[in-house]
Amino acid sequence: MTSAASAARTFDSPLLEGLTDHGVYAGVEAGPDWVAEVRRLAKARNATILAHNYELPAIQDVADFVGDSLALSRIAADVPTDTIVFCGVHFMAETAKILSPEKTVLIPDQRAGCSLADSITAVELAQWKAEHPGAVVVSYVNTTAEVKALTDICCTSSNAVEVVESIPEDTEILFLPDQFLGAHVKRVTGRQNMHIWAGECHVHAGINGDELAAQAKAHPEADLYVHPECGCATSALYLAGEGAVPDDRVKILSTGGMLDAARETGAREVLVATEVGMLHQLRRAAPGVDFRAVNDRASCKYMKMITPAALLRCLVEGRDEVFVDPAMAAAGRSAVTRMIEIGQPGGGE
Ligand code: SF4
Repeated sequence: MTSAASAARTFDSPLLEGLTDHGVYAGVEAGPDWVAEVRRLAKARNATILAHNYELPAIQDVADFVGDSLALSRIAADVPTDTIVFCGVHFMAETAKILSPEKTVLIPDQRAGCSLADSITAVELAQWKAEHPGAVVVSYVNTTAEVKALTDICCTSSNAVEVVESIPEDTEILFLPDQFLGAHVKRVTGRQNMHIWAGECHVHAGINGDELAAQAKAHPEADLYVHPECGCATSALYLAGEGAVPDDRVKILSTGGMLDAARETGAREVLVATEVGMLHQLRRAAPGVDFRAVNDRASCKYMKMITPAALLRCLVEGRDEVFVDPAMAAAGRSAVTRMIEIGQPGGGE
């Protein structure tokens, strides 16, 4: 047998015979055979599998590491394997490539986008910058590589306040793309010369204040974990301000912060306002706590495009590979590096 034929056999899998693609890869069951094939192929490719907290439980369980976007990018840079399979959405895999340009970064389905990252393009940002010469651009990490390349400092939801406070008070700030995170930062810092892009994530924006208020009333003993991108983040602070929910029960947290809080909580019940995939890791972190979604329809269709079939196809075919232009990656890397240097960047989304 030639070495090419032998390699083809190594990376083949009979489980892929049922593969279908009607906009999402399907047709492969996530049973024990699939787990064994995924692990065999990852080893054969010398690949590390990373999965975001919002992925399907089967994907989280088969991965080498599970976490939030920044934490995973940092793990990607440290692991000894030369291939990374990033089970998340495209901008996250791009960030991993920006931080580890020498590694091969694969995403199981490159069509997995992000409505928040797509809410501002590089052309729109360039125009906005031209309208505010001298302004410092602060971008949430949920942005494309093109937008990061035009950014001065990236931020996560954990250190957005500190990033803004690190900028001289008389300097204008352009904050993008998330309007809810921007409003939260503006409220906390009292910063007046901060312009906020009107972008949003369709999943988080769909978790609204009315639902949160109803759930808080129905579960009077529960803590509330709210992601600052949520449409209800403002309502959560308002409820606390009005005394409807005791101040110390409302926690505005990044996904990584939620896991830390879950491990330490004394609460028996916790209402969670973010994408529902997060519940899987929270329940694993604190099995004795009853975690409930504020909105159980808050599911990101892009994250759920990383199906068992997509992951198997990725490992068999060695694609979709993520490419970032080297000059663009260098420009984006300096914005991401500044983010890591300021405060506690936590893990992003
Ligand atoms: S949940 Fe929202 S911000 Fe996160 S990946 Fe999905 S669309 Fe993007």
